Amino acid sequence: MWAITFEFLSGAIMAYMITRIPFLTFPRVKSWNEQFPPHPEPIFVDAHLIQRLMHMRLFYWLALVFAIIPLTFGWFSLAHGSAPIGFGMWVVSGWLVLSRITAVIAGEQAPWNKQLAMRLQIVRNESESEKSCCNLPYPIWEVSAVRCRTCGKNLLNESRPDLGRPRGDGWIMGFIRLILTDGKAIVAPDEEE
Ligand SMILES: [Zn+2]
Repeated sequence: MWAITFEFLSGAIMAYMITRIPFLTFPRVKSWNEQFPPHPEPIFVDAHLIQRLMHMRLFYWLALVFAIIPLTFGWFSLAHGSAPIGFGMWVVSGWLVLSRITAVIAGEQAPWNKQLAMRLQIVRNESESEKSCCNLPYPIWEVSAVRCRTCGKNLLNESRPDLGRPRGDGWIMGFIRLILTDGKAIVAPDEEE
């Protein structure tokens, strides 16, 4: 019984890790993050940030492509090897595929999405226009909202999801936190002012 449970869990964990490879590894390469301040400091809202948001969105959806790996291995394992490992892989990767598809059908948004990128772009445009919050607008994305560093005005009530920077809380803790949150913002956005 213990052996079966262990094999099932190994299959499940393996599938979980494989489907998170794009999101956990690709954006965290050092050369990819030199234009950004280190995590968890606020990030200046510019073209780089908006581009990063779109990349994170891509990695989020790439998980569906990566789910093919554990689905295939799981199938082989079910047919020719250890059934519990194969079943574990199928449960986790199947769940990922189903939950992402149902989220699309239900109209739920990924933590990184086009609407968010567009709203950040509007913040950028406004800070460069005559409607800007102050004379020296400097919008930065803090943990719970986008604010102007000069005047402190709240410019956008969106808490910051993970943006793929190497984690400031250490490799292991950062890794565990990313696995648990799946990159979603941990803090709720500020109340409307
Ligand atoms: Zn300002």
